[in-house]
Amino acid sequence: MKKTLALIMALAMMVCLFAGCADGGEKYIIATDTAFPPFEIPGEDGSMSGIDMDILAAIAEDQGFEYEIQPLGFDAALAALEAKQCDGVIAGASITEERLKTYDFSEPYYDSGVVMAIKANNEEIKGYEDLAGKTVAAKRGTEGATFAESIKEKYAIADIVLFDESPMMYEAVKSGNAVACFEDYPVMGYGIANGNGLKMVTEKEQGSSYGFAVLKGENAELLKMFNEGLKNIKENGKYQEIIDKYISAE
Ligand code: GLN
Repeated sequence: MKKTLALIMALAMMVCLFAGCADGGEKYIIATDTAFPPFEIPGEDGSMSGIDMDILAAIAEDQGFEYEIQPLGFDAALAALEAKQCDGVIAGASITEERLKTYDFSEPYYDSGVVMAIKANNEEIKGYEDLAGKTVAAKRGTEGATFAESIKEKYAIADIVLFDESPMMYEAVKSGNAVACFEDYPVMGYGIANGNGLKMVTEKEQGSSYGFAVLKGENAELLKMFNEGLKNIKENGKYQEIIDKYISAE
């Protein structure tokens, strides 16, 4: 009797492996940034809110899948995806040509672009020309870091210091360890509006739109659900409701 039961269980497990029973009760692991307001807003209790979180929640509800959020940091989240330690990343991640070699992205869900920010009371830096011989800050693995790198030689920037978290990068500028930092426009705009002590003096650079990422060739069903859910929440007004909740329309 016991043997039969064990056999049945073993068989059931094998069937599950092949048929992908995991799908039924599977919880996708979605990695994200630790702080990227208004896309990732960490709460004091360790919870995470923000546009990305609400969009994902709305899409998951629309498509009927379950997930768990892991706030790892931006660079760490993409590394976790590459190491297959998570199923997807939503972290204001820009859809770049370079990344498309490694990841599959959803349809774009928000437009961005990189901008330089300096300390609010800094009257010395008026443009990139004034960065000569100075140290600037950027966030590891981001479009902002790539942009800083791209102008380093031209404007004779002395050094680019890299941080893993946006708030640490802002702090470096405020403390004077760096004269400027490079951040996504919607994030810096939100930060300044909420009194982060910085200001912008240059125009926004052309940047890529945000997308939800999975590892190339993996989790195609999750990506499909994300895209379908995104389409649905755009159609039913939920998407706009989320944006309006965090970014006040002019
Ligand atoms: N959008 C930027 C990028 O993808 C930064 C994302 C982030 O810092 N969370 O590089």
